[in-house]
Amino acid sequence: MDNLFEERIAEITGSGLFSDDIEVIQLNLGLRCNQVCAHCHVDASPERPEVMPWAIMERACQIIDEMRPATVDLTGGAPELNPNFNRLVSRLCGKGHPVQIRTNLTVLLEAGMTGLPEFLHEHGVELVASLPCYLEENVRSQRGPGSYEKSMEALRRLNALGYGSEAGPALNLVYNPGGAFLPPDQAKLEPDYRRELHERFGIRFTRLLTIANMPLGRFWEELRRSREDRKYMALLRDAFNPNTLQGLMCRHQISIGWDGRVYDCDFNLALGIPVDHGAPNHIRQFAGDAVAKRRIVTGNHCFGCTAGFGSSCRGALV
Ligand code: SF4
Ligand code: SF4
Repeated sequence: MDNLFEERIAEITGSGLFSDDIEVIQLNLGLRCNQVCAHCHVDASPERPEVMPWAIMERACQIIDEMRPATVDLTGGAPELNPNFNRLVSRLCGKGHPVQIRTNLTVLLEAGMTGLPEFLHEHGVELVASLPCYLEENVRSQRGPGSYEKSMEALRRLNALGYGSEAGPALNLVYNPGGAFLPPDQAKLEPDYRRELHERFGIRFTRLLTIANMPLGRFWEELRRSREDRKYMALLRDAFNPNTLQGLMCRHQISIGWDGRVYDCDFNLALGIPVDHGAPNHIRQFAGDAVAKRRIVTGNHCFGCTAGFGSSCRGALV
């Protein structure tokens, strides 16, 4: 298939897409998850065996010590299910690295997780928590029965510790669309989330981040089954916004997979496409300069990041 995204970038830049710096190092701790969400781009589930071993974590920590990114972002699957999760967080925080976790919230209520919210709070770890809607029906349809109630319970416990308050560590929520459409304006949706969650449950949070559904994983499979795939790709392409290019997350971060391979982003990780164009693609051969100024590997899925307000792990881009 033609890489129409690369062609579009070449029209604008005269060459490819290049990274600017590495503000964020993201570690994907594995694909195991307690949930099986309909929109999951990494196809995570309780059956997935992929888990980052301690030896890869140690090497990743050395790289983080050398590069000192503004944020270390731990993701999965459910990163909390990695058996070495607490050890890794202690190691990173012990060296003063700002750490944030992408949590699905419900995992915090799983057996064996007692005390985890307190542990994260003590270490000043910030949380980025997926909550695709403030309405029960929409959350249930994406994440399964009981997920809404568990998410609210987890949020209440986090609030009780101070998460989401002015003094406490950040508790950011993540919205994603419930179907094949683009996220609305993040700044306009945030007051709705704030009002509804507070009025219904007394819950508070720091910021709302809106993220587009990428044409990958289970979401893409469902689009293909329902024959909506072409229409969705056309929607993403037609909504291409050149103002999003500067903030694209691949220009400011790298993702390290559970097996130590290095990717431009978690979406390329989901597709199994590591960094290329001469940059070393495994942390065994990691070279900071080569990776910080690398040419990025793109594909048509990248239109998911540049559509409308733009999309990234940090929310909208414009
Ligand atoms: S979207 Fe997140 S919570 Fe849902 S299955 Fe995937 S990794 Fe797990
Ligand atoms: S999917 Fe998005 S973040 Fe990843 S390489 Fe493409 S534009 Fe960059």
